Amino acid sequence: MATIGWIGLGNMGRPMTKNLVAAGHTVNGYDVVPEAVEAAKEGGVNAVGSIAEAVAGADIVFTMLPKGEHARAVHMDPGGVLEHADASTLLIDSSTIDFDSARALHKAAREAGFRFLDAPVSGGVTGAAAGTLTFMVGGSDEDFERAKPVIEPMAGNIFHAGGEAAGQAAKIVNNMQLAISLQGVVEGAVLAQRFGLEPKTFFDIAKVSSGDSWPLRTWYPVPGVVDTAASNNGFQPGFSTMLMHKDVGLAIEGAKTKGVDLPAASLVYEQLQKLIDEDLAGLDTTALIKNIDPEAEG
Ligand code: NAD
Repeated sequence: MATIGWIGLGNMGRPMTKNLVAAGHTVNGYDVVPEAVEAAKEGGVNAVGSIAEAVAGADIVFTMLPKGEHARAVHMDPGGVLEHADASTLLIDSSTIDFDSARALHKAAREAGFRFLDAPVSGGVTGAAAGTLTFMVGGSDEDFERAKPVIEPMAGNIFHAGGEAAGQAAKIVNNMQLAISLQGVVEGAVLAQRFGLEPKTFFDIAKVSSGDSWPLRTWYPVPGVVDTAASNNGFQPGFSTMLMHKDVGLAIEGAKTKGVDLPAASLVYEQLQKLIDEDLAGLDTTALIKNIDPEAEG
């Protein structure tokens, strides 16, 4: 069994570490928010008060942070992972971050003598809790094989997407597709109700018809239809609007560098920006339904 350092105990980090502990690993966890660390203790994480303590004696260090700037700071700043970890430690960043940050992390880790993988995930907080996340890993064959057994308790699928930053490439494209599907689901949910259909009746039809999709089945944005939906819980995340806005923005920025136009992604990006402008960035991304129906319950 491995000793694992874990930095970032938010909506995803907490359930992911719980599964590692259940599999018999020792997890030393740190977060800047003390309440997040306290909550992770319930899942069996050893709470520590600094990055240095989290990485001490670790075989593997995972980071699960909001954005590229956080992942860079946690690794590269004074007091960070590269300063305090032993160079034999395998570093795995599971945050969804921009390509420049992912490449910069690979480079800085390599130059400091570390092995590094980008390994973002898909499946949301329900997949994190169930240990069925899809991992998309970028880095060398050797490091991928070393990481795989430790990733397994958190994963339903583990893919070696390719070399450096390939995991981020797969994740960014995936989430762009998710955002576009979700926009269809929120528009459909409102329209179905306005046409007089019971939400659950329409959901049951669409789920086995060609309008089915992952956000429909997992995040249906009307309360009382799908247990795993944030609409049952006042749109508390789940997956925040701010993080979805980041991911769609990463796809649009990346697409520009390749000369690709993304009209549907650009539309959803504007819809997410609208929620942010209304101070709703902290709500679950399914609050997109509020742009279509401001009275939508959640
Ligand atoms: P979150 O905001 O709930 O958690 C991130 C945690 O990182 C927070 O607890 C925050 O306090 C902590 N943090 C920030 N800066 C830190 C620092 N310098 N040192 C230590 N801790 C720090 O976010 P989340 O929903 O857990 O998502 C994490 C990552 O996973 C994001 O990149 C997101 O895009 C991605 N992701 C999220 C989901 C989802 O459904 N929530 C699904 C797949 C991928």
